[in-house]
Amino acid sequence: MSTACIMLNGDYSFLGLVDWKKAMCLVVAEKVKVLKYSDRLIRSVDKVFKAPAVIVLIKVVRSVYRNRVPFNKKNVLIRDRYACVYCGRKEKALTIDHVIPQSRGGATDFDNCVACCRLCNTRKGARTPNEAHMPMRRRAYQPTIAEFIQMRLRQSGVYRILVELGIYG
Ligand SMILES: [Zn+2]
Repeated sequence: MSTACIMLNGDYSFLGLVDWKKAMCLVVAEKVKVLKYSDRLIRSVDKVFKAPAVIVLIKVVRSVYRNRVPFNKKNVLIRDRYACVYCGRKEKALTIDHVIPQSRGGATDFDNCVACCRLCNTRKGARTPNEAHMPMRRRAYQPTIAEFIQMRLRQSGVYRILVELGIYG
């Protein structure tokens, strides 16, 4: 992590982490500007310089925001924070529940699938949440890649650094 550099999009939203070598290449290629340097010193043959800590793309990459997260079980679990949407339990063996049961025409997509613990899945059976009297803590929805990046950002602690820099308030 010490050599990782935060890369921001042209609008200062978080894009990802790159190592300092990749960051230096982007600086040299004039793709990015450096917002903050780290205290880590890099020694090359003829000079010593500070590694970039935060870089920002000169142009905004827009495709990141348009793209939808592909549907699969793992991404449903990420969206639902690895917690059952009915009881909030976090367990390793979470299943995927069809809010409107498949047997009644419910689709297998982000708008109809949620993370569900085994107990709740058994209890709900082939009923809707209303019929089963099991209110949902989160609704099902199609997430965007930008949302997933925001989530990862908060988890990784990078968010705090960006708040310090005044990029997020
Ligand atoms: Zn549950």
